[in-house]
Amino acid sequence: MFATLSDRLADTFKNLRGKGRLSEADIDATAREIRIALLEADVALPVVKEFVGAVKERARGEEVSGALNPAQQIIKIVNEELVAILGGETRRLRYAKTGPTVIMLAGLQGAGKTTLAAKLAHWLKEQGKTPILVACDLQRPNAVKQLQVNGERVGVPVFAPEPGNGVGNPVDVARASIEEAKRKLYDVVIVDTAGRLGVDTELMQQASDIRDAVQPDEVLFVVDAMIGQDAVLTAQAFLDGVGYDGVVLTKLDGDARGGAALSIASLTGKPVMFASNGEKMTDFDLFHPDRMASRILD
Ligand code: GDP
Repeated sequence: MFATLSDRLADTFKNLRGKGRLSEADIDATAREIRIALLEADVALPVVKEFVGAVKERARGEEVSGALNPAQQIIKIVNEELVAILGGETRRLRYAKTGPTVIMLAGLQGAGKTTLAAKLAHWLKEQGKTPILVACDLQRPNAVKQLQVNGERVGVPVFAPEPGNGVGNPVDVARASIEEAKRKLYDVVIVDTAGRLGVDTELMQQASDIRDAVQPDEVLFVVDAMIGQDAVLTAQAFLDGVGYDGVVLTKLDGDARGGAALSIASLTGKPVMFASNGEKMTDFDLFHPDRMASRILD
């Protein structure tokens, strides 16, 4: 992820080395290079435009500082603008003041929700919480089983419809899970919902019904960073159809060009809160925009 973008930007900055002061032409040429690098990384056009505009404006206005040469100054500006489009400050989970905190996961099938649910449960356990996982994905034949297997791997119980009760209604399961959490004093309820291969109204309706039934403290939209520009379209569809508080990017270990990761927070106005970067239960952490920006500019 980001390898090409990193290399591209490094080349751009190399061209500025040794320059005493940046001329208007230098700034224009640099802005053009950055624009191409971002577009090649699959960053959405409106985000690219805003980004390049901001870098240009700041590069022109920047006081020449004794401590930094022009190349370093541009790198500093690009770094700060990257942090800004990635959502600024690290956004942490908001816990309920009383009763269990309810976190609902939404996203397309294959986004990595079920895996993510267990990773999040594991992470919460390490934070001293007592989570419970809830299997509301009753659509995909194996989803309940998969959540149970993953729950076992991280030592977190899974609330699921009773076997033999038929498929069950995900909204009822979700509602019952909150009662169970209150009764048994679990302090975080992680609700895994069904996904589809594409966005459809039935899926949105079901997710909205579950949301209304459990009144989550946080709705997290889970999206596969490998799907590129489609991630942004899906993110918008879920924002309109279900609504959410934050984004979780999965499969950051893949070789995607990174445009989705760079575009989503900026286009949806919702912060990326967590990143998942592998198949192991520990391949997961809070998303830190500043660290991601530094990685790109490394
Ligand atoms: P769901 O349909 O949204 O519940 O998606 P799953 O949790 O079943 O994940 C779909 C596939 O992606 C599975 O094969 C997971 O092992 C894989 N997967 C999930 N998260 C990651 C990740 O961060 N990195 C990689 N490489 N694979 C992942």
